[in-house]
Amino acid sequence: MKSKPPAPKSKAAPKAKSASAKKSAAVAFDPLKIPAGVLLGAHTSTSGGVSQSVVRAIACGFTAAQIFVKNNKQWFAPPLSDTEAAEFRAARKASGIYFFAHNSYLVNLGSQDTEMFSTSVRAMIAELERAEALGLPFIVMHPGSHGGAGEEAGLKRIAQGLDEIAKGTSGFKCRMALEITAGQGNALGYRLEHLSWLLENVASEKRFGTCLDTAHLYAAGYNIRSREGYEETMDQVNKLFGTNQVLGLHLNDSKVPLGKRVDRHEHLGTGEIGLDCFKWIVQDSRWASTPKVLETPKSEDMHEDVENLNKLASYLR
Ligand SMILES: [Zn+2]
Ligand SMILES: [Zn+2]
Repeated sequence: MKSKPPAPKSKAAPKAKSASAKKSAAVAFDPLKIPAGVLLGAHTSTSGGVSQSVVRAIACGFTAAQIFVKNNKQWFAPPLSDTEAAEFRAARKASGIYFFAHNSYLVNLGSQDTEMFSTSVRAMIAELERAEALGLPFIVMHPGSHGGAGEEAGLKRIAQGLDEIAKGTSGFKCRMALEITAGQGNALGYRLEHLSWLLENVASEKRFGTCLDTAHLYAAGYNIRSREGYEETMDQVNKLFGTNQVLGLHLNDSKVPLGKRVDRHEHLGTGEIGLDCFKWIVQDSRWASTPKVLETPKSEDMHEDVENLNKLASYLR
């Protein structure tokens, strides 16, 4: 995720859903037409209140959407009121759109620093509490960074953190989807093996899954630009944890070349990956029921998302 949520329009929160829907829907494009059963959309802002993300997703014609459950650049947030949560759940249900969450960028379970580690655990528990209250099926999270302690020490630390979070949220339905990363700096999770190792080394595996991001895969060195590389990567996914452990897909082109290990997202077809890979994904029966969202740059009316998704929708006809 690199996109910045648009700033709220005014301090006065919109009261009636229909009125604000009209405001958000005042866009210069036709909403998408996505075939039934296909879960496709984009990361969507919750500016103005979490329910506003549903209004925005409807206006664009999404069938899937990802949200932050709180300001992603802050550790903690004021509690979510029962009314806010109930409003979101009702709006989401009525929309039929598949929503899931992405965690804060500050969380680092790979840290050897006791303070950083315990704050990360507490912050993740708080995020899961919000996601659970909103009825979201899973929250995508970056595994963490080892900060120089080495990969093995980092992975062990992350597994310990994941166990503590699972314990602190026992009985929750909301799962954690460990995202493949670009491997920038000391970030772990840039190998599919890191994700499978973590899944195998947590106490309650059922609470976890994975999330694949095309830009991260490519930047990490998986050559999904070529058909051969795509198939090889998906074979590895199958062998290591299976496609049913992939709870969500992030469809982003990459600004950086193969193996560069830098996390920069680009619009579909205008980056280093090119359009073919995205066509293969949406046409691949293994991903037919997996929710797929964009995390590419956008303006407030989200017309860029609709343009990107229209490219994908054309492959589904
Ligand atoms: Zn992410
Ligand atoms: Zn991502």
